[in-house]
Amino acid sequence: MIAVNNLQKHFGKLEILKGIDLEIEKGEVVVVIGPSGSGKSTFLRCLNLLEQPTGGEITFEGQSITDKKHDINQTREKMGMVFQQFNLFPHMSVLQNIMLAPLKVKKQQPQEAEKIAVELLRTVGLEDKRDAYPAQLSGGQKQRIAIARALAMQPHVMLFDEPTSALDPEMVGEVLEVMKKLAEQGMTMVIVTHEMGFAREVGDRILFMDGGYIVEQGTPAEVFGNPKHARTQDFLSKVL
Ligand code: ADP
Ligand code: MG
Repeated sequence: MIAVNNLQKHFGKLEILKGIDLEIEKGEVVVVIGPSGSGKSTFLRCLNLLEQPTGGEITFEGQSITDKKHDINQTREKMGMVFQQFNLFPHMSVLQNIMLAPLKVKKQQPQEAEKIAVELLRTVGLEDKRDAYPAQLSGGQKQRIAIARALAMQPHVMLFDEPTSALDPEMVGEVLEVMKKLAEQGMTMVIVTHEMGFAREVGDRILFMDGGYIVEQGTPAEVFGNPKHARTQDFLSKVL
C-alpha cells in the first residue's frame, strides 16, 4: 500500500530523516518507537506530505505522491491522521465536527454524512455525545471523537502520532481500545507511541527509529524479546 524509498527530510542544515526505506502492506499495523527527537513525527508527517520531503520517493496505492504533478489533496483524503492534540473545533458539536470534512470535502449529502457519523460514534462508544461540545468532553473522549472524525473520510490508512501522550493515565486505555478495534477490523495503521504494551500486543511490526534512521525492525517478539542493536537495547531498557 505504501512504499518509502530513501526518504530524506532536512530543515535547513539539520538532517532529520537520513534515508528511510519501508513498505507497508494493506491491513498491516506498523508501530514506530524511538527516543524523542529521533524523527518519528517528521516521518509520519512526510507520509501524508504535511512535511515536504527533501529527497526520496513515497508511493501510495501505486502512485508516486512525491511526484510534483501529483494532487496531494486527493491522497490526504485517504490518509486519516490523529495527533497528540485533538484539534476539535470548539464551536461545533461532536456531530458537526465529524460531519464537516465529509460535507465540505467529499460533498456528501447531509443525511448520508450524519448516518456515517452516528455509526462512527457507536464505533468509538460515544453515541450519547453527538450533541455535546468539545469543552464538555474528557481528554479521552475528545481523542475518540478525533479518531471518529478522521474515520469519517473513509481513509485507507490511519496515521497516529502519540495519540495518548496528552491524556491523563486513566484515559489512555479507552483510546487504545478503539485503536485495537480498528486494527482487528483490518485498518492499515502507522502508529507512533510510547505505549509499549500496546505496541507489543497490537503491532504486526515494530520499527525502532533513532537519529533519523530506522535502526531496527521486526515482529514485536523480535524487537522486544531479542533486540539486536545496542541502541534498541538501550532504549528498551529505559522504557520497559
Ligand atoms: P520525534 O517525533 O521522534 O520526537 P520529530 O520528528 O518531532 O521527532 O523531530 C526530530 C527533529 O527535527 C527534532 O530535533 C526537531 O527539533 C526537529 N524539527 C522538527 N520539526 C522541525 C521544523 N519544522 N523545523 C526545524 N526543526 C524541526
Ligand atoms: Mg513526535
